[in-house]
Amino acid sequence: MEIKKKDIRALTKEQLRNFFVEQGDKAFRGNQVYEWLWQKSAHDFDAMTNISKETRKMLEDNFVINHIRVDQMQRSSDGTIKNAVRLHDGLIVESVLIPTETRTTACVSSQVGCSLDCRFCATARLKRMRNLNPDEIYDQVVAIDNESRLYFDRPLSNIVFMGMGEPLMNYNNVLRAIDKITSPEGLGMSPKRIVVSTSGVPKMIRKMADEEVKFGLAVSLHSAIDEVRTSIMPFNSTFPLKDLREALEYWYSKTKNRITYEYVVWKGINDTQEAVDALVKFCKFAPSKVNIIEYNPIDDGEFQQASNKAVEMYKNTLERNGITVTVRRSRGKDIDAACGQLANKS
Ligand code: SAH
Repeated sequence: MEIKKKDIRALTKEQLRNFFVEQGDKAFRGNQVYEWLWQKSAHDFDAMTNISKETRKMLEDNFVINHIRVDQMQRSSDGTIKNAVRLHDGLIVESVLIPTETRTTACVSSQVGCSLDCRFCATARLKRMRNLNPDEIYDQVVAIDNESRLYFDRPLSNIVFMGMGEPLMNYNNVLRAIDKITSPEGLGMSPKRIVVSTSGVPKMIRKMADEEVKFGLAVSLHSAIDEVRTSIMPFNSTFPLKDLREALEYWYSKTKNRITYEYVVWKGINDTQEAVDALVKFCKFAPSKVNIIEYNPIDDGEFQQASNKAVEMYKNTLERNGITVTVRRSRGKDIDAACGQLANKS
């Protein structure tokens, strides 16, 4: 009977060190292998040239190194790159590289599909198939960092968890991946350059606050009126705005990090003065900033981007109330790489 080998990257550094001690080797060997696995992203044991042949064979007999493969890379006319990433079990997720004058941002996935049911999002239609492991999240970042160096001559500068999935529904693995990304033994990136975006899971926002995480938080709000929010993001009936607001106040009290709200203005849904006023009120509970993002159509027109006039009304009202607001154009629309369009179409 074939024994199923364990994924070596599921081991912590300490576990790897212990494994070598149990084998009668030195704990230090664990550090060396760990460095190959994370900092150097080795895809097979034979690449580990400072490890003896016998040890490499022993590792081969006991473990596998699961790694992602970029199956297909598409480039948008605006420079945006979308990777279709194949996981070790054949499932596929997508990640996106978004270049600007000064930054290169990776937009990474945290789950295969998504368990939430936002009615305007293409990923929601895939349902959730499974959570990504920390190494699968980390590998997406490494792949984009390599592409950034290759095509734009600079390393990756920022990461947003705005790809497929709800990061706070895969909390432990997302945090473990961020640990690796920020650790000097991984990519050594500053947590200040990372933003986790959530539809708003109050319990997990409180947990993040308690753990005093150092990365940024973005909340996909889209409406500050319960009735409206529930109609477009049905899980809002389980996590109503009052609970979300209290969790966010708690987050701010613990981290002193201002909150970013992501917001799409749709025709006939939230393009009213009443909707803007509710948003202004919601923003006052903790220092915040609003990113108004353009709607990327995914269907036959059930949702439509609101008029420029409505977006202007939002911008003016928010600014008048002292709330920072940015209006963002979408990137990568021609390759279905924009927010909410990730659905493994190609
Ligand atoms: N689940 C997380 C992260 C993934 S969605 C979250 O909800 O934040 C990333 C962002 O894209 C969210 O702000 C989401 O509301 C937005 N989005 C989803 N579908 C969209 C669409 N069709 N057009 C524009 N933005 C969309």
